[in-house]
Amino acid sequence: MEKRVTVIGGGFAGVEAAKQLSARGIGVKLYEMKPVRFSPAHKSKLLCELVCSNSFKAERTASAAGLLKAEMALFGSVCVQNAKLHSVPAGGALAVDRDAFSAAVTAGIEADPLIEVIREEVTAIPRNEVVIVAAGPLASDALSEDITRLCGDRLSFFDAAAPIVTAGSVDMTRAFCQSRYEKGGDDYINCPMNKAEYEAFYEALINAESAVLHDFEKNGEIYEGCMPIEVMAKRGENTIRFGPMKPVGLVDPATGHRPWAVLQLRKENRAGTMYNLVGFQTNLKFGEQKRVFSMIPALNDAEFVRYGVMHRNSFLHSPGLLTPAFSMRRYENIFFAGQITGVEGYMESAAAGILAGVNAARLLDGKPPLVLPQTTMMGALSRYIADETVRDFQPMGAAMGLLPPPETRIRDKQQRYAALAERALADLEAALRENKEWKEHDGITGT
Ligand SMILES: Cc1cc2nc3c(=O)[nH]c(=O)nc-3n(C[C@H](O)[C@H](O)[C@H](O)COP(=O)(O)OP(=O)(O)OC[C@H]3O[C@@H](n4cnc5c(N)ncnc54)[C@H](O)[C@@H]3O)c2cc1C
Repeated sequence: MEKRVTVIGGGFAGVEAAKQLSARGIGVKLYEMKPVRFSPAHKSKLLCELVCSNSFKAERTASAAGLLKAEMALFGSVCVQNAKLHSVPAGGALAVDRDAFSAAVTAGIEADPLIEVIREEVTAIPRNEVVIVAAGPLASDALSEDITRLCGDRLSFFDAAAPIVTAGSVDMTRAFCQSRYEKGGDDYINCPMNKAEYEAFYEALINAESAVLHDFEKNGEIYEGCMPIEVMAKRGENTIRFGPMKPVGLVDPATGHRPWAVLQLRKENRAGTMYNLVGFQTNLKFGEQKRVFSMIPALNDAEFVRYGVMHRNSFLHSPGLLTPAFSMRRYENIFFAGQITGVEGYMESAAAGILAGVNAARLLDGKPPLVLPQTTMMGALSRYIADETVRDFQPMGAAMGLLPPPETRIRDKQQRYAALAERALADLEAALRENKEWKEHDGITGT
């Protein structure tokens, strides 16, 4: 095969993929439809545009977002480098001057002799060359149709995600494992409530504040078949008690009776480190989710890995479709990267672009794919999107709950996170050395 790769989309994932390829001597045709065509959220003609917040979240390495950026820096990430160069003061977060950031990334890409930027909308994915589709959560309609032709009925157009909590933070003295009517073993953790607890929870739920939707998200389609728990609750005091919180078929061993209402938690990943709140897809503000859902006794001290969201977001049902190297299982020459793979967030999308770029280069060089260890944030995210045991796949951002717990139990959260980060960076370096992808970086200049 000719050593050239087509990258579709010049956002976070696309520019990172292009840079990883050019750093390995591979030519890139980078297609970006702006300024010929704009998605409803994109406004600037620059590459790598921040469509909303100007923050890349926490900077300290002992946090999920900080660890992700530290790992990306080891690949010479253009987004991390330019974010550091164009940061604005934001407490412990890495926030940027958005125009300066995007302008610097664009200039770096346009000056790269191996990258040709073509300002055109791609409407069909080339099937017989190495290609990376990084068209983002608002991929154009024509391209989305072709993705559906290629991937079958696996492209969703909106999120309807329920929150996820870490397994270790559920108070098991106030919960019990059981499946309804004892069918299916101990697959579910049940969080029971008595009548008084339910009534207080119900009042809080129907009065909690919702997140604001963008104009292009305000159509009924978002809620079709996937009603937010707070909307369902407003239909009547018992509606959710006959719906997602129904207690039938369950007996609380603590009382010997059926509870008044029950929230069920279901395993989110193969490792069983995370559980989702079954049927609790929600559009409440994040702070409200923490306040209201923590009123369920077993979740009093729950650690939320992901909050529920509902917004316009094109993403693939990647498990079973993509490998953890971001290529299609069926066609090794077709890669996807960025938010469209089911990772969530600017830097997560950029990280997916890095791995897709590295792996497209390795394919052309006749090398096996690079799949990073589960103990690294980049490895955990890429394995998550390809994890076929995930039942109700929804987008996922960096979270410490994705990583296997430390070998010895560490109670203090900050110390635990620091240990996880140290292990992740050591394991990443070892994996890169073993796969001959290690390069010395100073964290700024990169590849
Ligand atoms: C409204 C909204 C708000 C968001 N807010 C945040 C936030 O505050 N923080 C956060 O971390 N994440 C946020 N996200 C998620 C954010 O979009 C992603 O984190 C990130 O931009 C995704 O990177 P990407 O490279 O996958 O896609 P993008 O950055 O969107 O890049 C995709 C690029 O592909 C181009 N493109 C699309 N179709 C075609 C085509 N057919 N041919 C050629 N080019 C094409 C687009 O013009 C775009 O430039 C938000 C998303 C949306 C939709």
